[in-house]
Amino acid sequence: MTIGATLATAAAAYPQKTAFAMGSRSFSFSEADDLANRFANALIDAGVEPGSNVAVIGQNSLEYAIAYFGIARAGAASLHLSTRMTVDEILHCLDAGKATFAVCDPSVGDIQITNRLSLDPGEFTTRCDEMSDSDPMKEAPLDTPSSASYTGGTTGFPKGGMHSARSRLTWATIALEFFDLGPDEVMALAAPMGHAAGGFIWFQPGVCAAATQVILPHWDVPAFMDAAERHGVTSTFLVPAQVRMLIDHPEFDPGRLASLRKIVYGGAPSPEGLIEEADARLPDCEFIQNYGMTEIGPLVTLYKKDRDKYPAAIGRPTERTECEIFLESGAPASIGEVGELCFRGNTLMQEYLGDPEQTAAFFRNGDGWGWTGDLAVRNEDDIISLVGRSKDMIISGGLNVYPEEIERILAELPAVQDCAVFGLPDDTFGELPAAVIVAADGTTAQDIESACEGLIARHKRPRRIRLVAEIPKSPAGKVLRTVLREKYADE
Ligand code: AMP
Repeated sequence: MTIGATLATAAAAYPQKTAFAMGSRSFSFSEADDLANRFANALIDAGVEPGSNVAVIGQNSLEYAIAYFGIARAGAASLHLSTRMTVDEILHCLDAGKATFAVCDPSVGDIQITNRLSLDPGEFTTRCDEMSDSDPMKEAPLDTPSSASYTGGTTGFPKGGMHSARSRLTWATIALEFFDLGPDEVMALAAPMGHAAGGFIWFQPGVCAAATQVILPHWDVPAFMDAAERHGVTSTFLVPAQVRMLIDHPEFDPGRLASLRKIVYGGAPSPEGLIEEADARLPDCEFIQNYGMTEIGPLVTLYKKDRDKYPAAIGRPTERTECEIFLESGAPASIGEVGELCFRGNTLMQEYLGDPEQTAAFFRNGDGWGWTGDLAVRNEDDIISLVGRSKDMIISGGLNVYPEEIERILAELPAVQDCAVFGLPDDTFGELPAAVIVAADGTTAQDIESACEGLIARHKRPRRIRLVAEIPKSPAGKVLRTVLREKYADE
């Protein structure tokens, strides 16, 4: 099986069935299969070579779904950049990924790329109409690079984790098993396809399951309720922040979600009590939590029976990969002992694009084990719980924010003498970035906030800024983020 073949197989089995629906438009599996060939031919016609990297920058759309399969059938790898990235971040990712072609939403600004194809439905259709509908038969072997998803970078820029097709198809197999997905499912795609979770824990597995997918361009509770009711949505993937927004929304009406049987949630820690509350408000819906990571895949799940016993756990690992908790020394942790959660197997990324140093740090011992940065313990029932993050990463609304990255930008502001960024708990987003700043006389927090606009992507911008006389640091000069988190948690 190849990536392209997953769509062709679904089209052969269910040609007339709706594959993707968005608003009033939809494609059957047969139409989607045909369009993916046409788009592959459009890419080849534009000069895309097998083995090259093609960036995709767009909100969820029918065209995005087709572009993904078209790129695979043209023999290229797809780099899934986020529409939230700043132009500088996009330029960095294009450069690190050696991408000379980009398939973009019309709203994406000037990214200085000459080979640009549009995801605008009109332009996309016109381009496809001009092309042959036969498969160009250029798809790459299973172990060559196939697709990259991006995650926050400690180096100040997003890092692209490149996976082979074998890895993505194993992710899909695991998702089908963990979430029990099949052709009767009507899956709402409410997470961005550009993110590993939306694209590869939900969208690609949905095609492998030959399920119908209802695509939401972006997260919006009333639109989700409408789509669920209209299409009889049976399952969806949400980050915990979306679960919170859903059940707190004034238009939330369980009666309109009567067809919904399954919510898979994950991508970030769930605030205490959130899932119990959601479970009580949607009693006919099963809540399945998944722990995953851009670099490793969807590897740990927690079902209700274990959640009742261990509410704060992330669950049990799949048997399709090796899972171990290692101490800093490299020795395996015993039951109950805290170490770093590590995985090995064919769901792991091949590399961070253009970043051999970070790649080497991830596969730090050169023995195939990937180190997640998550500190964890395993209990006697083989259930894993996270206890912290070794890298102090902030996860806001399911998106990673690295304090060091924001600190570097803040430090460049003329008024900033010293600064530290850390995460504070937030009921909606899980965490929000906050900052303490030692500033030049006469500077206000408002001045700093205004200076951040345009420099820092919205979800990474510190929401709470405090001006302080001094920043707590260890004798070695490291910022004591734990002290900051505790001190400002209740303010
Ligand atoms: P990303 O690769 O950007 O999706 O971020 C992956 C990180 O998100 C992991 O290393 C964890 O720290 C966190 N994460 C993902 N899923 C969960 C989960 N179900 N519970 C707690 N944290 C999670």
